[in-house]
Amino acid sequence: MTVKREYDVIIIGGSYAGLSAALVLGRSLRHVLVINAGQPANRQTPHAHGFLTRDGETPAVLSAIAYEQVSHYPTVQFWTDTVVTAVRSGPAFSVTIGGGVQFQAHKLLLATGVYDILPDLPGFAECWGRSVLHCPYCHGYEVHGQPLGILANGDVGYEMVTLIQHWSNLLTLYTNGPSTLTEQQQQVLTQLEISVVETPVAAIEHKAGMLTALLLDDGRRMRPTAIFARVPFRQSTTIATQLGCSLMENGLIEVTEFGETTVPGVFAAGDAMTLFRQVAIAVASGTKAGAWMNKELIADDLHRKTRPVTTEV
Ligand SMILES: Cc1cc2nc3c(=O)[nH]c(=O)nc-3n(C[C@H](O)[C@H](O)[C@H](O)COP(=O)(O)OP(=O)(O)OC[C@H]3O[C@@H](n4cnc5c(N)ncnc54)[C@H](O)[C@@H]3O)c2cc1C
Repeated sequence: MTVKREYDVIIIGGSYAGLSAALVLGRSLRHVLVINAGQPANRQTPHAHGFLTRDGETPAVLSAIAYEQVSHYPTVQFWTDTVVTAVRSGPAFSVTIGGGVQFQAHKLLLATGVYDILPDLPGFAECWGRSVLHCPYCHGYEVHGQPLGILANGDVGYEMVTLIQHWSNLLTLYTNGPSTLTEQQQQVLTQLEISVVETPVAAIEHKAGMLTALLLDDGRRMRPTAIFARVPFRQSTTIATQLGCSLMENGLIEVTEFGETTVPGVFAAGDAMTLFRQVAIAVASGTKAGAWMNKELIADDLHRKTRPVTTEV
């Protein structure tokens, strides 16, 4: 087992949130190690929208530019691997990756995103991020005014319909089984002329992830241009719980505005701590956490370097 030198900060997850924090910390002359498994949430989407100055860029290009800019700072190092465990080790933290290699740091940032739990519906995984869409702010503009489907039921389905009808009123709600809408919700949908299809969905037919038809159990083929769906998620690693960080009821890591978790010295940024899943939000939260970690490191340095001043009487 190789024990490497100690860093000021180890960032676990080197996507938008992690690299944004690394940029702030590199510019603060901090020794940082970014460990990244390289599986960002939007990896399948052809174009990432809504990030100012880079609207419509491919995720691969966004990541490449971010990496190139951060690697300009000599105190930031990178390691491609998966962190398996992280524990407190005296005043620092010890992080172990796949092959058993360990690294130590004074602070940790969890920028590990979340794992989307996709339904076991043929075609869904292939279309995720391409023509099965999670967010109208990311992808609604591209399909506005087009025939769209929403694959959801009950309160979630109702909420999604009322949101997405702003982009297109050519909407159909696919409840994939008996509708659990309330009578009042059904009335609103009727007034909005939004049809509800209860027949179970058998498959999403597609060409290279672009939906061609929604095949229903009764053999009908519906032809929305795209569908919106909200899928459950979980943390993509158990590291937060290994360290004792509190999770909220929705599974996200509990943090302060500056990304402090409930465990001193451990921070979180990006999708791992917010439901507002957008590149801009991940970048902003990484920036805040990076600055706050540096502030704490400065306070720790000062504490070590200075003695309490006593006033003689
Ligand atoms: C299908 C889809 C399409 C999207 N489209 C858009 C869009 O058009 N515009 C937009 O603004 N937003 C979009 N988003 C949202 C956006 O992708 C996320 O908000 C953003 O990726 C979050 O950044 P992050 O850094 O928090 O996490 P991620 O980008 O998910 O990155 C987390 C990183 O941590 C790594 N990691 C996880 N566990 C470990 C571990 N144990 N050790 C080492 N590394 C680890 C992962 O491999 C990954 O590289 C989309 C999301 C989805 C799901």
